[in-house]
This record gives sequence, structure tokens and C-alpha cells, in this order.
Amino acid sequence: MQQIFDVLIIGGGPAGYTAALYAARAGLDTLVLERMSAGGQMALTGDIENYPGFEDGIDGFTLGFKMQQGAEKFGAKTEYTDVLGVDFSEKIKKVNTTAGEFFAKTVIIAAGANPRELGLQNEAAFVGRGVHYCAHCDGRFYKDKTVAVIGGGNSAAADALYLSRLVKKVYLIHRRDSLRADKIYRDPLKTAENVEILWDNVVSELITDKRVTGLKIRNVKSGEEEEIFCDGVFVSIGRKPATEFLGGAVRLDDSGYIVADETTKTSVNGVYAAGDIRKKALRQIVTAVSDGATAVHFAEEYLAEEF
Ligand code: NAP
Repeated sequence: MQQIFDVLIIGGGPAGYTAALYAARAGLDTLVLERMSAGGQMALTGDIENYPGFEDGIDGFTLGFKMQQGAEKFGAKTEYTDVLGVDFSEKIKKVNTTAGEFFAKTVIIAAGANPRELGLQNEAAFVGRGVHYCAHCDGRFYKDKTVAVIGGGNSAAADALYLSRLVKKVYLIHRRDSLRADKIYRDPLKTAENVEILWDNVVSELITDKRVTGLKIRNVKSGEEEEIFCDGVFVSIGRKPATEFLGGAVRLDDSGYIVADETTKTSVNGVYAAGDIRKKALRQIVTAVSDGATAVHFAEEYLAEEF
């Protein structure tokens, strides 16, 4: 007979393994479904300095592994598989994967969100060697250097301002002639002396040696191309929440994030959203782990009432 887990967690990042730790430690049958290895986005970050308790920093892969070990110590299990779809129409929820079907009384969706890429030819090859997707994670490596930020939304504007306080010069490269970002970001950007906004420009090529050394940019109005020198580029053109496999099973917002407030409760009873996949203001490891614990708190409440 198929096992019915108390808590099934989709995604083995910080939100997922914190949920697994709390659930397993509470004596619940807990399974994590993870595609590749623990840690999620965090595992791609070399040096994490903004997660408390590690005064010398810690690399994301090690932190992810430690979170997994911590949860498994209390009995949580991990299945390495790709989730293909879900069926939340019955009280016992079904999750369809490349390793078969899994059944659970509650599901915590913690599959995260991935940064949108520019789609340049050698972009992936230079990640960490001049190409970055998180200014707060990697900005400090560019003290007294020149960087470019790509995008025109709140994230790009906030990143440009944040970096302007750390680096020598920031180019903000935006494909249109006005920023989508709110006034609270636009005004300080205008007065930041070391920020130069390059309007109506897209990046057509990364110029590289062993690392990124510059960008070829193209003015979309005039068609003119020019090269600018920079030591690093921060791509800040939005994120893609990993919600496609849900197929509309829970309510999403216009950007594809799961609609769930601080309780992590989704539009379906017994289904919770934790970490970057949830509509929220700040996507960080500390907020993800907080969601993981909160989701289990409410899952336990639901299990006690419904089963
Ligand atoms: P966003 O608002 O979707 O902005 C993405 C930006 O990237 C847009 O300016 C867009 O240009 C540009 N872009 C998209 N694809 C591009 C491409 N292929 N090449 C070049 N440029 C491209 O994303 P976000 O800034 O990450 O923000 C996501 C959400 O979080 C938003 O709702 C935002 O308000 C919110 N947020 C809030 C705060 C805050 O309030 N403190 C801080 C950060 C983020 P176009 O403008 O031409 O479309």
C-alpha cells in the first residue's frame, strides 16, 4: 500500500529543509522532494555573510547540506526527483514525479524562484566570474570597482543604489527611457553622483577575458553599439517563480508567485507556500527559513483538526 506522508515538502532549499526539520522533529512522517541537491539557489552562492551564526561566512552548498543533515537527523527523508504535477482536489494530496506518485495529508511548496537571465551566449559560463544575480550577496566583491546593473524595476533601482554605496561607479542599463521603479528609488538615483543611467540600451554581448571586462550595449532607438568597461554585471530583470508544475492548483499572483500571507497558507486547505515562491517583500535565506517553520506550525494545526 502507498505510504501517506503527514508532510510532503516540494523543494530542498532553506525553506524546505527548515520545514522538514520542524516537521520531523515534531514526529511527523516527512518527505522532501528535491530535484538535484540540497540548498536551492543558496547552494549557488559562494560566500554567505548575511545568515546569522556564521561570523566568517559560509558557502551556500555547505549550508544547504547542513540543513539537510539537520532535518534527516530527526527522520526526514529525501527523494531526488522532478515534480511533474499535483492534484490537491482530494483531502489526501497527490504529487506526481519522475519517480512516481507520492501522497500526503499536507504539502509545503518550497520550490523557490530563479533569477531571470539575459539570455546572452556566454552568460552561464561567467556566473560568479563577473555575472551576478544578487547585489546583496555579491556586491561587496566590487569595492572601488565599476559595475553595471541591468533592469529598470524596483529591484534594479534598489540594487543600483545599494551598489553605489560600495563601488566606485554604477551604470544602470535600462531598455526604455523611464524606470518602472517607484519614486522612492528614482529620486535618490537622480542624485547619486556615481550612478550613470544608460537609457534605451540593451546588452548585446558580454566582453570577457578570464572574467567579465565589459559589455557591448546597443541603443534600441538609434541602433548604435558601444562598449563600456565594467568589472561585473548584476542582472536584475525579475525572477521566475517555479510554479509551472502547479498547473493552477493554488492561486498565483500576476507574476506567478503563490498568494499566501505570513501564515504561508495558500488558497487550498492543508497546502502551504514557503520561501521565495511565496508573494513577499524580502526574499532572503532568513525569511525562507522563517516561512518553513511557520508552514509546519499551521500544518500541525491542520493535521490535528482534520485527521
Ligand atoms: P520587475 O518589476 O518585473 O522589473 C523588471 C525590469 O527588468 C523591468 O524594468 C523590465 O523592463 C526589465 N527587463 C525584463 N526583461 C528584460 C530583458 N530581457 N532585458 C532587459 N531588461 C529586462 O522585477 P523586479 O524589479 O525584480 O521586481 C519584482 C517585484 O518585486 C515587483 O513587483 C517589485 O515592485 C517588487 N519589489 C519591490 C521592492 C520594494 O518595494 N522595496 C524592491 C524590489 C522589488 P521594462 O520596464 O521595460 O518592462
